[in-house]
Amino acid sequence: MDNFKAYNLYNYKNIAEVASLSNEMIEAIEVVGRVLPFKTNSYVIENLIDWSNIPNDPMFTLTFPRKEMLAASDYNKIKSLLDSQASKSEIDNAVKEIRLTLNPNPAGQAYNIPIFNGQKLDGVQHKYRETVLFFPPQGQGCHAYCTFCFRWPQFAKLDDLRFEMKRTELLYDYLESQPLVTDLLITGGDPLIMPTKQLIAYIEPLLTDKFNHIRTIRIGTRALTYHPYRFTDEKDSEELMQLFRRVVESGRNLAIQVQINHPVELSTPQAERAIKAILATGAQIRSQSPLLNHINADATIWTAMWRRQADLGIIPYYMFVVRDTGSKSFFEVPLEKGANIYRDAYSSISGICRTVRGPSMSSDPGKIEIVGITEVAGKKAFVLRFLQGRNPDWVGRPFFAKYDPKATWLDDLRPLEGEDKFFFEQDDEL
Ligand SMILES: *Cc1c(COP(=O)(O)O)cnc(C)c1O
Ligand code: SF4
Repeated sequence: MDNFKAYNLYNYKNIAEVASLSNEMIEAIEVVGRVLPFKTNSYVIENLIDWSNIPNDPMFTLTFPRKEMLAASDYNKIKSLLDSQASKSEIDNAVKEIRLTLNPNPAGQAYNIPIFNGQKLDGVQHKYRETVLFFPPQGQGCHAYCTFCFRWPQFAKLDDLRFEMKRTELLYDYLESQPLVTDLLITGGDPLIMPTKQLIAYIEPLLTDKFNHIRTIRIGTRALTYHPYRFTDEKDSEELMQLFRRVVESGRNLAIQVQINHPVELSTPQAERAIKAILATGAQIRSQSPLLNHINADATIWTAMWRRQADLGIIPYYMFVVRDTGSKSFFEVPLEKGANIYRDAYSSISGICRTVRGPSMSSDPGKIEIVGITEVAGKKAFVLRFLQGRNPDWVGRPFFAKYDPKATWLDDLRPLEGEDKFFFEQDDEL
């Protein structure tokens, strides 16, 4: 972990010392970085970014804000405020205004918060019957600030949109009262930014008999490929591995859910070492990633990524459609193109990697997979199905939408001729 350093917006000039950034790029970091917060570290800079290929290198684009990630009018507004040395409060107000137009809380993220014994469980989401999401307050930062991230308002401290859970007791009481819940997903941000001791305090109580219905504990993280030392070289890494072993020894599954956007993230000895350490505890590693223009919008990249994951013992899990938030217009891929990329990649891997599902839209009614494109009564149509539904009865039922080559999200889709609603919208009125 020699020379490991973290960088944020305010010391980006240090990066200019280790990385050759043009004045234009520095300006973009400064301007866009006000709205979509910027953070990176020396591991990413030294091991993942190909500096001979900037600004088009995928890892550079994932990490560094680029001018095109904001609308030109928003960009110019912030730039002119900075140029004229406007006051902090003037800049803050303009930033806040722009953020609010970027849909910081897509797909009803702030909903599905349970109410238990008359108390609202802020920091918990229970949308799908089997799985409860928990956002520990100490996990509301991240090892990466992905330029496409839909959770950025949490990092950007838009306080009224943050959800976190201060009173863990309530969470335990709630889980005890929910015998149908089998999975607890600890997420963020990134829960692995918190010290191991804190994570132990959250997880250990769940390993007792009264939580025997909780069969799987999942931890969502980006650390595996952005800060692999978290599992091997930090002062509490070994304690973290012990915690993983204890969960497994309790007879439960421990799934480390990692986000990996590009095969290069799996190319370093540090990442390989971290993967081996995790798997040696008996935990599983499952991977998910959105499909992103400028990063991985090419079937050969997904084929390479899934094959590499299988070689390393990682289970491919989800391909997502990028959400309608932040810098989406820069990263979005039309649904038709996404379905074709998925199919081309899926058809060139063996059954071992075909544990993956997608492309999937995590939308208000549920996770909807674009199965493909077909013809219905002589007209092209999308075939879709729920992988997860707010109503469990919706799962697995195929349905259609009018073909639209430009559609990038569920909102753009319409039912076929002669139907005015999708079946799940009708159910909602019952
Ligand atoms: C994706 C997701 C889950 C987990 O779903 P799985 O298909 O079991 O991985 C749970 N809750 C919400 C709100 C989700 O978006
Ligand atoms: S790793 Fe996930 S939570 Fe963290 S910034 Fe990236 S997309 Fe957001």
